[in-house]
Amino acid sequence: MRLRPGVAIDLGTVNTLVSVTGRGLVIEEPSAIAVDRATNGVVAIGHEADALSGKEPQGIEVIHPLRDGVIADLDAATAMLQHFLRRARLRRGLLRGLAVVCVPSGATWLERRSLAAAASALRPRCAVQLVDEPVAAAAGAGFDLAAGSGAFIVDIGGGTTEVAVLAGGHLVRAQSLRLGGNAMDAAIGRAIKADLGLLVGRNAARSLKMTLGLGEDTTGEAVGVDAVLRTPRVEQVPAQLVARALEQPIAAIVAAVQELLSDIPPNLAEDVVRGKIRLAGGGALLPGLASRIEAAAGIPAFVVDDPLRCVIRGAADILERAQQL
Ligand code: ADP
Ligand code: MG
Repeated sequence: MRLRPGVAIDLGTVNTLVSVTGRGLVIEEPSAIAVDRATNGVVAIGHEADALSGKEPQGIEVIHPLRDGVIADLDAATAMLQHFLRRARLRRGLLRGLAVVCVPSGATWLERRSLAAAASALRPRCAVQLVDEPVAAAAGAGFDLAAGSGAFIVDIGGGTTEVAVLAGGHLVRAQSLRLGGNAMDAAIGRAIKADLGLLVGRNAARSLKMTLGLGEDTTGEAVGVDAVLRTPRVEQVPAQLVARALEQPIAAIVAAVQELLSDIPPNLAEDVVRGKIRLAGGGALLPGLASRIEAAAGIPAFVVDDPLRCVIRGAADILERAQQL
């Protein structure tokens, strides 16, 4: 049997991943596009564009078309997706194919429509199926959705955190918080400015987050610009400062987990306890987060394999099943 051509797309706030039936992952790049201000021409996409971000290159605007998991700039999102697909040599191959596109569970109708519109950049004549991100994440996390059993998934991305309880492939309860890794980076940057008088860029804040996380003992090196002198300076940042800065976003995520747990239909309780809380998305890798969630929830929690690719793995599974129908 010859399958319809198919593509699965995880258009994340920070990373865009595209998987193609029969080929696997073809795109895994930052969700960024750099545009020449004078001509509006595309200068760079993905890694190359993101590498220019915040560095103020003259005449170039670096756009991250998604904010909080949804499209903030439809034209830029469409252009970015088109360039990615062209790079993967995909546009023509999708004639009469199927595209599975992930959306945050909290996205409004308008937000869903704009995601579908960006995906219709996949013309000619490609059917678009929107899938709630927690459903794709749960599939990618190894839950058996077909059996109708219960699952508890937490997907911590750059702009959103999705906390959801599922039965089979269906959402039972879900909370979509409009905060994630980007808010953590920003909180770290603000704390370093306030306590150490140092202005650090996004990448410096992000790398402190990844190495120190919620730990308390060590220090991490950061290079930034002195807030007063405006000259570069190297500083040893104490782990406690980073942990304190992360407290607010982490508390919000933990509270969402507790809230959903306190509202689980009794018939799903056993599945949820046995299946454990599974953490996906890049934010799941934050050192100390899984044990923090486990302690607050009172049931086991763990980080899934390769959490940054969890949603696209699940979306590719869902695509494959849809193609066999
Ligand atoms: P999105 O789906 O929103 O694009 P991703 O799931 O791709 O997001 O995750 C990206 C986020 O994960 C970024 O905020 C990034 O800083 C964060 N991240 C990646 N690795 C780590 C790590 N080791 N520790 C903490 N955060 C991480
Ligand atoms: Mg994501």
